[in-house]
Amino acid sequence: MRDVPLAELTRWKIGGSAPAFANASSERQLRQLLAELGGQPVLVLGGGANLLISDDGPGGPVLMLDGEFKEYEVRERSIYCGAAAPLSGVVQAARRASRAGFWILEAVPGTVGGALRLNAGTAEEGIWDRALWAEAIWPDGSKRRLRRDDVKPRYRGIDLDPGAIFVWTEIAAPPADAARVEEEHGQRREAKLAAQVYDQPTCGSTWKNPAPPAPSAWQLIDRVGMRGARRGGAQISLKHANFIVNLGDARAQDVIELMLETRHRVHEETGILLEPEIHFWGIPEEVLRELGAVR
Ligand SMILES: Cc1cc2nc3c(=O)[nH]c(=O)nc-3n(C[C@H](O)[C@H](O)[C@H](O)COP(=O)(O)OP(=O)(O)OC[C@H]3O[C@@H](n4cnc5c(N)ncnc54)[C@H](O)[C@@H]3O)c2cc1C
Repeated sequence: MRDVPLAELTRWKIGGSAPAFANASSERQLRQLLAELGGQPVLVLGGGANLLISDDGPGGPVLMLDGEFKEYEVRERSIYCGAAAPLSGVVQAARRASRAGFWILEAVPGTVGGALRLNAGTAEEGIWDRALWAEAIWPDGSKRRLRRDDVKPRYRGIDLDPGAIFVWTEIAAPPADAARVEEEHGQRREAKLAAQVYDQPTCGSTWKNPAPPAPSAWQLIDRVGMRGARRGGAQISLKHANFIVNLGDARAQDVIELMLETRHRVHEETGILLEPEIHFWGIPEEVLRELGAVR
């Protein structure tokens, strides 16, 4: 498909159209699409829960995994997932089956593939602390099974060629005490819903928290008086200063301007350079550099 609008496929409801867009429902179909693209990299869209797409579009062909990649299965001591499986479904399945460890992904929107790319989780732990392995396919059609040591997970990131497309993973899910599992999930969900923004379009935390003992990103943003600041249709949330909300007609440019000003003011007043947590598509290299998204 050509010129497919992407905004509605993201949590922020922001972004231009993809010059080319396709869904892949099976590994065979995915390989076929990659072959048609002749090995050129493709952008994989998960739940769009951590992504800012330029108003001019993503700057390349976009792929969404679908069909068999949405499936997941609770096994004896693990959960086997396709990369397009909704995190919410996997996490609730783990909770119902009283499996340990999935509370770290409670109330985290998006897909398993996005979570693997971002090493989603809490400040202390990420999905790669639980993943036994994940398989990825490269634009040339080759496939590799990756383990923790291959991707060197860190806080909200991994070391992996951006062209790699996660397709399957198996996550450790040992049986645990049912009451304990219920309590961990309940507490995490309650804390997130109380502190974070779920009733407006956002992409979660905009910035990574600087390493301790530095204050967290929201504290730094508050310190420089940016809570509630507005550019066009984008506003730094009044509820959580590390979230930017789309008030209805925000453009990517509005979000970028808010981010640039925040980063500049935090740096001037505290000496700390914030680093974005969100990923960007189609944003010029020099802007990414100013945002701290590339070094
Ligand atoms: C209200 C709210 C709360 C949140 N809370 C948390 C939290 O507690 N912890 C946390 O870590 N995050 C949190 N997030 C951020 C977000 O939910 C996670 O980062 C999630 O993992 C993003 O997944 P996604 O499928 O939406 O990825 P997308 O936003 O679609 O994509 C993000 C990046 O991952 C890549 N990607 C997606 N799928 C694949 C794939 N199959 N293979 C390779 N690359 C892929 C994309 O190309 C892109 O570069 C929150 C977001 C919101 C809106």
